[in-house]
Amino acid sequence: MKLVFATNNLHKLEELQAIIGDRIKLLSLKDIGCSEEIPEEQPTLEGNAKQKSTYVFEKYGYPCFADDTGLEIEALNGEPGVYSARYAGEEKSAETNMNKVLEKLANKNNRNARFRTVISLIINGAENQFEGVVEGKILTGKKGDSGFGYDPIFQPNGFETTFAEMNITDKNKISHRGRAVEKLVKYLQTIS
Ligand code: IMP
Repeated sequence: MKLVFATNNLHKLEELQAIIGDRIKLLSLKDIGCSEEIPEEQPTLEGNAKQKSTYVFEKYGYPCFADDTGLEIEALNGEPGVYSARYAGEEKSAETNMNKVLEKLANKNNRNARFRTVISLIINGAENQFEGVVEGKILTGKKGDSGFGYDPIFQPNGFETTFAEMNITDKNKISHRGRAVEKLVKYLQTIS
């Protein structure tokens, strides 16, 4: 079976192919000739993931899954959430996004936050969603230089290090994306 992962991130694709094994062949957007930007205009992670998987399924006819992730900060009523990539502007800079979060939390005691990933899978004519969450805290400054996005200011509960101080294997074991993917893979194993 061929299954499209609606991403252009080949690293993400290879990592997932290794977990899924060779019964399912994952295809990237490039593999199916999709080079246009896929619309992501919904106000929720669920809505955006579904909009992306539906777009690919309807336009290209392949079974498909898409993911969407956001950082949800309790004291900011769930911000930046679905706007995580462009929280401080369209240039999508991780540094300015983190600075904006740190400034907004400057006088707040409640530092609770979570990363949440939603995967939308369209296969056999039906949509299924899989959610992965990791709870943690926003520190008062940046620590570490691995990873990407908000990793240097996010410390998962039960750890003394930020995501940016962990190696990718350790991060994936507990991360939002890792947990959502685990559910997706279990589901695919039941139907393939
Ligand atoms: P996407 O839906 O995977 O593109 O994620 C949207 C945005 O959330 C990214 O541009 C990052 O700012 C942030 N983000 C997603 N996953 C992570 C992560 O694992 N660590 C830090 N930031 C992340």
